[in-house]
Amino acid sequence: MIITKKKDFKELMGNLRNYQSFFLIGCSECASLCGTGDDKAIEEMTQALKAEGKDVKGGFVAKTGCQVLGTKKELKAFKEQLATADCILVMSCGAGTQTAVELFPDKAVYPANDSLFLGNMTRFQMFDERCSLCGQCILDKTGGICPVTTCPKGLLNGPCGGMQDGHCEVSPDIPCAWVRIYERMKKLNKLEELRESVLEAKDWSQKQSPRSLYMREKEHK
Ligand code: SF4
Ligand code: SF4
Repeated sequence: MIITKKKDFKELMGNLRNYQSFFLIGCSECASLCGTGDDKAIEEMTQALKAEGKDVKGGFVAKTGCQVLGTKKELKAFKEQLATADCILVMSCGAGTQTAVELFPDKAVYPANDSLFLGNMTRFQMFDERCSLCGQCILDKTGGICPVTTCPKGLLNGPCGGMQDGHCEVSPDIPCAWVRIYERMKKLNKLEELRESVLEAKDWSQKQSPRSLYMREKEHK
């Protein structure tokens, strides 16, 4: 899931200083799990904007804010509120904000959140980064633990010389990713596999942005 956090409210109000009326769009997926785009977050933002003397014309939680056509369909029910709002405030990840930009080319669209990383919710509202979307997954070779993301140096072969008692040199409060990989491979009786597979340098061009994946031919308008 995409991990988001609310922007500092003072900073947000600075960004929105030129607008008076708003329509809020949340997202029922990742942003809801992060508490940044669910019904409660929308209600809190509505009250906070009103306290600043702003007008909130309406708002809703999109099913999947990054799904452009689905969100467009859902927004039809809010046509009037949208027409009277001079700014759309999007309470999801940056992809959700850009859905609104695509759907409202003539209206101001602002993000309410900062998008941080792709991660796992390891405990209620506790998130840890697990994947950097490198485009060439090597979890099959590392016992399912990602060194690209969970080793601060992103080492493809480790551990580095700085590892101490299983802890990371860069962030001593976290376990060394490569010790975790070693321990897991040992448990799975796959140490031989680990010894044999010195990982080659990755093809970082796979991470070149902007990336697209079209599972069918693109329609030309
Ligand atoms: S190897 Fe790449 S794709 Fe696989 S989990 Fe790590 S960052 Fe993500
Ligand atoms: S100690 Fe382990 S996790 Fe930390 S930088 Fe070195 S190899 Fe990576």
